[in-house]
Amino acid sequence: RNHGIGSWTRRRSRKNPRRVALVHHDTRITYGQLHDRTVRLAHHLRHLGVRRGDRIAYLGPNHPAYLETMFATSLLGAVFVPLNTRLAEPELRQCLSDSGSLVLVHSPVFAAFADACGVIRRVSVDASYERALAGAETTEIDEHVSGDDLAMIMYTSGTTGRAKGAMLTHANVIWNCHNMLVDMDFASDEVTLLSAPLFHTACLNVACLPTLLKGGTVVLEETFSPSRTLDLIEEHAVTAMFGVPTMFQQIAAEERFDRADFSSMRFLMCGAAPVPLALIETYQQRGLILLQGYGMTEASAGIAVLDSEHAVAKVGSAGLPQFYTDVRVVDAAGRDTAPGERGELLVEGPSVIPGYWGLPAETLAAFTDGWLRSGDVAVRDDDGYLTIVDRIKDMIISGGENIYPAEVENALYQHSAVADCAVIGVPDEQWGEVGRAVVVRARGEAATAEDILSFLEGRLARYKIPKSVVFTDALPRSGVGKLLKPLIRKTYGTLSS
Ligand code: ATP
Ligand code: MG
Repeated sequence: RNHGIGSWTRRRSRKNPRRVALVHHDTRITYGQLHDRTVRLAHHLRHLGVRRGDRIAYLGPNHPAYLETMFATSLLGAVFVPLNTRLAEPELRQCLSDSGSLVLVHSPVFAAFADACGVIRRVSVDASYERALAGAETTEIDEHVSGDDLAMIMYTSGTTGRAKGAMLTHANVIWNCHNMLVDMDFASDEVTLLSAPLFHTACLNVACLPTLLKGGTVVLEETFSPSRTLDLIEEHAVTAMFGVPTMFQQIAAEERFDRADFSSMRFLMCGAAPVPLALIETYQQRGLILLQGYGMTEASAGIAVLDSEHAVAKVGSAGLPQFYTDVRVVDAAGRDTAPGERGELLVEGPSVIPGYWGLPAETLAAFTDGWLRSGDVAVRDDDGYLTIVDRIKDMIISGGENIYPAEVENALYQHSAVADCAVIGVPDEQWGEVGRAVVVRARGEAATAEDILSFLEGRLARYKIPKSVVFTDALPRSGVGKLLKPLIRKTYGTLSS
């Protein structure tokens, strides 16, 4: 029997065959059709030689075929490997060989790469894909799949170094969905808009799979455009949306943000990177609640999330740990800290992965006594609400004091001239390291370094105020809008200001 996510389309189509599962431009796919297409694709993959445990990679932007491939792969007991479309070709090749993928399913824009990459079996999502489905068998497939079988190898974002293949079992993915359904009140009539890339756990596991498990509708967009997002919200009466902070920043900067019709919206979920308080406040002034979530690929997505009920009282916090997830905040010696004290966040629960694909040393280092080390600094208040401070790796140590760049960036965002910013540590003879702000000024703004630094006085402790400011036109961010700190340190860390 198939107890994995590959059985969902059959179970869902049994209950709600005519409900719309996926919307993509003018295409609407019901749960009945999604199941039929999934079974056909699974037969096609079988003909290509796919067997239980084989890896099937997908490379392309958000598209129904993305989810069809994921479900068909799981139906066969094979392992889905979503690839990051923004990676350079050598990095993609590395993911393909690291995962040992047998088949590459790709969108036509990656045809040249697919030709050259050496994976023998390929499926291009074009007219030939539709022909293959039309000609495929339709008999039900019922491979044995248990919770402990691998569902996906999902590469971490690679924000701090080389991406690692997180091994997500079916149980991991399903427990994560339960966390989301319990904590976020997903409804069976949810219409969830997804224009963040599905190859990241934040989009796929936080918002897409819980919506489909409940029988709601997912609206897929391949590229994010703030103005199109506003159109789509009105056109489809969207009720839920997941986005990263930069996406919500761009939407709020739209000229018609103030008049756009958000009346259908139940919740906006924001996370994957530090969420500036100023951003949440912008949405609150518009009567909208931006719920902050915190998670990582290694937890199959969600670790903590703020619910609507506490969105105002606990603004700025990432909420309570998810329903089935336990966390600890520990000091450098591994002792639990008191409320209000900062420390590394450790995570335990049924959505936490068993380890990294082919990386036993990294797996060992990621856990301490069965708890996953997040590498993030957090603080818990008296009620257990978590505030994510920053990554340990990005921390600046200045004269023995710890400075968390995200906190300084948060204060900088409150300055109206600051459109984007990053704070890094630069070597200093006296203090060891001091902070430097790299700032992108908003259009038409001419604020000077002095203006910006004096703005921070009184808002931040003296030692946290950067010693220099450099201005730039754009900061490097990853596909999900995360600041690429190693690159920013390399580019701006050695400049004299
Ligand atoms: P890599 O591990 O490959 O360097 P990554 O850590 O960015 O990349 P992900 O698993 O996609 O890969 O992201 C998880 C990380 O994202 C968390 O460890 C945390 O640093 C950051 N993050 C997620 N949500 C939040 C949030 N709400 N606030 C601050 N940081 C967040
Ligand atoms: Mg990480």
